[in-house]
Amino acid sequence: MLPVEQAEAIILDLVNGFDSQRDVETLNLGASLNRILATPVISQLDFPHWDNSAMDGYAVRFADVETTPTTLEIVEEIPAGYQPQNTLQPGQAARIFTGAIMPQGADTVIMQENTEKAENSVKILQSPQSGEFVRHRASFYQAGTPLLSPGIPIKAAEMAVLAAAQCSEVTVYRQPRIALFSTGDELVPVDQPLQPGQIVDSNQYALSAFIAQTGGIPLPLGIVRDREDKLRETIAYAISTADVVLSTGGVSVGEYDLVGKILQELGGQVHVRTVAIKPGKPLTVATFNANKTGRPCLYFGIPGNPVSALVSCWRFVQPALKKLSGLKAHWLPHFVTAKTAHPLKGAGKRDAYLWGQLTLKNEQYEFKLAGGSHSSGNLINLAQTNGLAIVPTGTKEILAGEAVRVMQV
Ligand code: AMP
Ligand code: MG
Repeated sequence: MLPVEQAEAIILDLVNGFDSQRDVETLNLGASLNRILATPVISQLDFPHWDNSAMDGYAVRFADVETTPTTLEIVEEIPAGYQPQNTLQPGQAARIFTGAIMPQGADTVIMQENTEKAENSVKILQSPQSGEFVRHRASFYQAGTPLLSPGIPIKAAEMAVLAAAQCSEVTVYRQPRIALFSTGDELVPVDQPLQPGQIVDSNQYALSAFIAQTGGIPLPLGIVRDREDKLRETIAYAISTADVVLSTGGVSVGEYDLVGKILQELGGQVHVRTVAIKPGKPLTVATFNANKTGRPCLYFGIPGNPVSALVSCWRFVQPALKKLSGLKAHWLPHFVTAKTAHPLKGAGKRDAYLWGQLTLKNEQYEFKLAGGSHSSGNLINLAQTNGLAIVPTGTKEILAGEAVRVMQV
């Protein structure tokens, strides 16, 4: 039984991030939200593109306004987007607005609030600093400067940068293709009436959602009966076509738990069999040599209990998918220290991961255990979970009011 951190390290080591030449696609900028940038973005433009005004006011020659009050002739009005027509001569000013190009001859902007306008002239009431309120060309970034580096997700701010740099198309990593299927004779699809002994295959939905949220493309392969030939067929197909395979069920020690055996028969190298975590102990992780995608395939045999399945995904699969997808950093889960509102029971030789809600109260995190049973079969009280409180191996109990480490999900 591997300690959690060791299993995490082994799994991350098995993952080679996507290749920045081969595993990429080019998208229209508008379609690139949440995708991972695969190439550096170098600006072809200076930022700002021109000397321009940072204020609504008057463009002037500083020499004219060193002593105030003084009155200047207004020779032009320059709104944003307009090309100035005049060069300012001594004693002249141009009405100017935020973002508008500075006229030739002007070197300073007086904010409107420090002026008094007459018909064709303006009285400057207060002396500015030399060069005040002028944004100089290339003072933010010069053409040729890298603006964004590869391996970052494209969110609203990155969209703005890419648009401003006129990148109408962007090269991003492709999304990982994740095959998933559920094993078990007792499972039925969501729309089928239940016969005695049957339950709905909720994992198929949970895992598809998890994959999509993590930026992957789910390839759902449905329910596979606990029959060796059917399982072998499905696993063989899945590993031939996907970057990662997630199967649930069939990995503990029961007579019908066939996944581990088949993985080995198909030439898989098994790296993890059990992890010291509750729920989620019988996690099987294997790798297969390069398949149709030209890349090795990573296989996660995940325990079937719905809570175990999601906890395994959050704790172990998510970091692997993030690393695979080309993200340069931030693969690991985020942990915070919280005060627990309820006593938290340990799980002996395993780390207990207890689900519940994390809230910020008086600038301190508080953890509230989900109400009801903490059986790994009880998925109902998993809803609204945003934190898993961790009671480390060997700790009997964390008392109410004490500090606990919580993984955010
Ligand atoms: P297993 O890991 O196959 O031994 O399954 C452990 C428990 O999880 C059993 O009670 C199964 O009925 C349940 N289970 C297995 N697969 C699923 C699934 N896809 N959806 C919901 N429950 C499942
Ligand atoms: Mg089963």
